[in-house]
Amino acid sequence: MKVFKFGGASINSIERIKNAGKIIESFKGDDILIIISAIGKTTNALEQVAESFFAGNKEEALDFFTEIKLEHLTLVEKLGLKKVATLSDLFTEVEWLLHDKPVRDYDYYYDQIVCCGELLSTAIISDYFNSVHIKNTWVDVRDIFSTDDNFREATIDWKVTEHKVKKNILPLFSKEKIVITQGFIGATDENESTTLGREGSDYSAAIFANMLNAESQTIWKDVDGVFNADPKKFPDATIINELSYGEVIEMAYYGAQVIHPKTIKPIENKNIPLHVRCFLKPELTGTIISKKAVQGLPPIIVVKEKQVLMELRSKDFSFVEEKPVGKLYELFETIKIRPNLSQNGAISILYCLDDKPEKIEKLALSAGEMFDVQLEKHLTLLTVRHFTDAVIQELTKGKIKLLSQQNRDTIQIVMKDSK
Ligand code: ASP
Ligand code: MG
Repeated sequence: MKVFKFGGASINSIERIKNAGKIIESFKGDDILIIISAIGKTTNALEQVAESFFAGNKEEALDFFTEIKLEHLTLVEKLGLKKVATLSDLFTEVEWLLHDKPVRDYDYYYDQIVCCGELLSTAIISDYFNSVHIKNTWVDVRDIFSTDDNFREATIDWKVTEHKVKKNILPLFSKEKIVITQGFIGATDENESTTLGREGSDYSAAIFANMLNAESQTIWKDVDGVFNADPKKFPDATIINELSYGEVIEMAYYGAQVIHPKTIKPIENKNIPLHVRCFLKPELTGTIISKKAVQGLPPIIVVKEKQVLMELRSKDFSFVEEKPVGKLYELFETIKIRPNLSQNGAISILYCLDDKPEKIEKLALSAGEMFDVQLEKHLTLLTVRHFTDAVIQELTKGKIKLLSQQNRDTIQIVMKDSK
């Protein structure tokens, strides 16, 4: 059994959908569970629908949704399909809700609306594949992935989900060798749709890989594999053919946009290798991530823009000790923001955070009850694993360093342009 994940970019045109089909056909004979993301930027478009709806702009929300609907219907036509039966149910599910007035939290509506992106893409592609004899069974993963009701960041109920995977998914492979389903979404036991956090499909695929005891998981992307830096920012970036689970978990933690950070644990726990491969060049082997320790890695560079440095100073010269710090972490949890870097002093504490303005404002306001708060915005957080002095010098040239921290493997520097 193999688990594949195709991201939104891998199916954003007729040619690419056909290309995905070719890749799948080249694995003829294997049982494959395939997770497919929403097409292209559909998830972003659905976020707009949710925002308009929640802001009370019903007409605008419906217009936005109609656009999405038309795009999908056009695709159905271009793929030469007469009709995809499940589509109208999926459309109705959302439109029905859009005619209501919002009375619950934004996050609840977000999930009810945004979840349809993957349902639409998979329903269409599943039908198309069947029509070209890539026989498969389509599954609405909301019947399988049981979650809590922490909308937009739902947590899987592992036991219930595993039971359903074994009972309802495994037997499907005796019918067709391919099962097509969605990542990123699930449902509560009251049948409310939930999402697991943006870009969560890799994680869903890993959960399936774990529960199905897959021999491997493959993420099909538009890049050749995992690079030591973002090739868009660093033209000299090189591909790394082999990485350990530990290395990748660190990279993802520091913000490398390789794969969703939660992806590694479920596959590491079962020692399942993860392949990152390019759907445009299936002849390449890409990157393989496994238990094996890899020596001699090049410096791995992660750059996070749009950072803010929050300095909290004790108001009365008292030490910043466990109690106030504990309260701060409670705040991080309620506001759902996580510091990327922190540094303690006697009467002050520094946090480097992603600049999500609403959250930062909330945090500064609440923290302001305990501390004097100062913010500095428009900063960059540089992280380098396996660093060398030369690389650091190069990367920090012309920058002012505001905070830095290092251990044996990793250095992190908060910096800004010197102007
Ligand atoms: N479609 C979702 C997103 O764009 C989930 C995913 O593709 O992983 O965030
Ligand atoms: Mg995606």
